[in-house]
Amino acid sequence: MTDAITGQEFMLKDWMRSLLGKRIPPALLSRLRAEAGAMPLLRGLSTEETDRLARLAGELLRAKAVTGLEDMEVDDAMRCRLALQMALPGMNLGMRAYDNWREAVLYPAPFVVRSRWQDGMGLSHEAEQVLIGQAHYQGPLVFSWPDVNESPLLDGWNVVIHEVAHQFDMLDGPANGAPPLHKGMDRKLWSQQWNHAYRQFCREVDHGAEGWLDPYASENPAEFFAVLSEAFFEIPHLVARDYPELYRQLTLFYRQNPAARLPLVAEETIWTPPPDGAALPAP
Ligand SMILES: [Zn+2]
Repeated sequence: MTDAITGQEFMLKDWMRSLLGKRIPPALLSRLRAEAGAMPLLRGLSTEETDRLARLAGELLRAKAVTGLEDMEVDDAMRCRLALQMALPGMNLGMRAYDNWREAVLYPAPFVVRSRWQDGMGLSHEAEQVLIGQAHYQGPLVFSWPDVNESPLLDGWNVVIHEVAHQFDMLDGPANGAPPLHKGMDRKLWSQQWNHAYRQFCREVDHGAEGWLDPYASENPAEFFAVLSEAFFEIPHLVARDYPELYRQLTLFYRQNPAARLPLVAEETIWTPPPDGAALPAP
């Protein structure tokens, strides 16, 4: 059998080989910087910050596999767009924040997962869900590519940041909305403020209140943390206005202050989930 190889494939193999070495290829860094400049999500970053973000994204592409499923070709532009979004939450945390997973998997569309569970009576249940993202404990991260592609538009939601937030949460065990905190952060204060805000939000959702925060955040404390993390990077002014204590905790945790660099997003332009609940992200 003859292995025909096109010029493009050869360049890709060469690029992948470079990634296995210690140096991030200059062409990849240039591509990451150019892609970063085109993302509304990354507006306001300084030149130094954009460079640091691009380097972390390059490190991620060197350390993690990005695999396309269902015959989907994953090209360099797609890898860059995914890696930059994955790198943003950890821009000031470094590669160690990404230690507990090794692969990101891309589907060409929202994907179906089947889950089984037992209720308190011991009865078995089974259900199918259509998801746009999923974060497994110790990996992999799973995404619908069209949703990754649309995530950096700065409209209030971001499936990549959502799933990366779950992975950060899972650095010390299964996701529970309480990630390992940095030295100097107050664990007790974190628990008090997040639990109080979560219970309050669940009451609001139960009473039918409709605000800018995706009601999916009321699923459990882990989803509350992941959805608030999305909002922190996409619509930080609203988080700072309505959840000032959580905004302060998120600036300490992510070591960033997105409200200082991003434009104000009007509430009416924020994406809201479809009424049938389809294509919701989940851990
Ligand atoms: Zn989730």
